[in-house]
Amino acid sequence: MSTTADAPAQDDGAGSGALTDGFHLVIDALKLNGVETIYHVPGIPITDLGRFMQAEGMRVLSFRHEQHAGYAAAIAGFLTKKPGVCMTVSAPGFLNGLTALAHATTNCFPMILISGSSEREIVDLQQGDYEEMDQLAIAKTLCKAAYRVLHAEDIGIGVARAIRAAVSGRPGGVYLDLPAKLLGQVLDAELGAKSLVEVIDPAPRQLPAPDSVARALEVLKGAERPLIILGKGAAYAQADDDIRALVERSGIPYLPMSMAKGLLPDDHPQSAGPARSLVLKEADVVMLIGARLNWLLSHGKGRTWGDAPKRFVHIDIEPREMDSNVEIAAPVVGDIGSCVTALLDGMGADWTAPPAAWTDAVRDKKDTNIARMAPRLQNNNVPMDFHGALGVLKDAIAERPDAILVNEGANTLDFTRSIIDMYKPRKRLDVGTWGVMGIGMGQAIAAAVETGCPVLAIEGDSAFGFSGMEIETICRYELPICVVVFNNGGIYRGTDVNPAGTDAATTVFVKDARYDRMMEAFGGVGVQATSPDELRQAVKAAMDSGRPTLVNAVIDPEAGTESGRIGNLNPQSVVAKK
Ligand code: ADP
Ligand code: MG
Repeated sequence: MSTTADAPAQDDGAGSGALTDGFHLVIDALKLNGVETIYHVPGIPITDLGRFMQAEGMRVLSFRHEQHAGYAAAIAGFLTKKPGVCMTVSAPGFLNGLTALAHATTNCFPMILISGSSEREIVDLQQGDYEEMDQLAIAKTLCKAAYRVLHAEDIGIGVARAIRAAVSGRPGGVYLDLPAKLLGQVLDAELGAKSLVEVIDPAPRQLPAPDSVARALEVLKGAERPLIILGKGAAYAQADDDIRALVERSGIPYLPMSMAKGLLPDDHPQSAGPARSLVLKEADVVMLIGARLNWLLSHGKGRTWGDAPKRFVHIDIEPREMDSNVEIAAPVVGDIGSCVTALLDGMGADWTAPPAAWTDAVRDKKDTNIARMAPRLQNNNVPMDFHGALGVLKDAIAERPDAILVNEGANTLDFTRSIIDMYKPRKRLDVGTWGVMGIGMGQAIAAAVETGCPVLAIEGDSAFGFSGMEIETICRYELPICVVVFNNGGIYRGTDVNPAGTDAATTVFVKDARYDRMMEAFGGVGVQATSPDELRQAVKAAMDSGRPTLVNAVIDPEAGTESGRIGNLNPQSVVAKK
């Protein structure tokens, strides 16, 4: 405890005589549980809390907008398997952070949103307090758990509950409401210290039932054309060696979901990434490891999955995920590390690799697709197209496999995901389950802060706009982040015209915008790149120097398609003409 300095110097006659207060109990409770980094925006009533945290040796990063502090906390949770913590002011700040909390919950990332709030007495009587809002009631519907602490002696329990709720079972977002009055409450320091709770084994292992493992192995053994799909839950689990061992021992081709890329290197002989359409259509048994059969996998049915009947093995920590979209022949419920180890143990000496007819077909398709793509990535066209630019950035990651790639946009997302190979686990961070725009700078900042690795953020010009102001944050903390904005002058493309001839079309931006100059405004490095060669030089210089850099990569405004690869999700009007 290091709490007495800021507490009022008075003796209430209890315990040791020294005092603590709500501010310092929050700090002590977080530190006791290993929380050392806070992503936040200061303001009433948490300004002093941030100051005191910093004074007590915590790393407190101030953002320009709560949503980005929240996205940073969410991805910190994914990267570290510990809850990332975002802290905001009341009502509007809370709501700004809530988007990220809901995003964390949807993506199964552990995160805690701590928000200051107004006085209960006034809020509950709706008497119009400063930033009045019943935040707890609102948060409850959008996260995994929500708690409010009213008494300083309950802060320890409140923080402990929040941590355990965030990381145990299926991870998710937790809201912790701290009314302004709580922070100033005074308590005897010794009683305060005793009230703290250290969370023992916050995410206990969950062993799969042996019969569920045996059933899964039976289904896999009967397969002619088996496939493994690795999701971001598998990346999150940090069971990298066991997952690799299982894939290699099984001999089964595998498909990584976007944020599972690199769990095994993308150039692994069993990777079926470049043969995605074929394996989804043709596989007869599919084992999902930490991946959901949601829209990103076409709900496990329909054209993407072809006509051949399929049987699914599903490994997940959440029992209710089973049968969410289609029947699961072999549910295996438990933590991924334990499930994968149990499957490996159960495979035994007589395990046989899948039929060569299948693995050869997958390899042929993959080789064909890679060979077809290669020359497009070598092009030196000016203006650049997506392939010319991404050919350069693909090399940049191959040369620096430790770098973390952050990626958002529409076409910029789709092309980058399929073109840039990843070589190590948890190095690709992106828009996640919602396909949300705006995660870019928050994720880049947290990635740099949590790992110390250099970050390359590949951003569509529209996507970048959501979080662009955070480049000031990047410069302020001097983070090794290189942002490449794929600037094609608009959303999807930069060529739309308003047929009514009045305002600019709804999807276009200012022509020839110079995003690089935004970075210069804050003392970072800005570079305009109009050719693949210029882009290569700029990114190399940025990654070598580690200085905050923004490269305005000028892309042909004609390049790009409506909504990237998910244009099919747009409803069509039968009466209107575009
Ligand atoms: P992707 O989008 O990459 O397919 P999803 O987010 O759909 O991945 O799926 C991740 C799944 O991983 C979720 O269903 C979640 O419950 C599960 N999960 C997360 N962590 C673990 C873990 N440690 N053990 C088992 N399952 C996990
Ligand atoms: Mg664009």
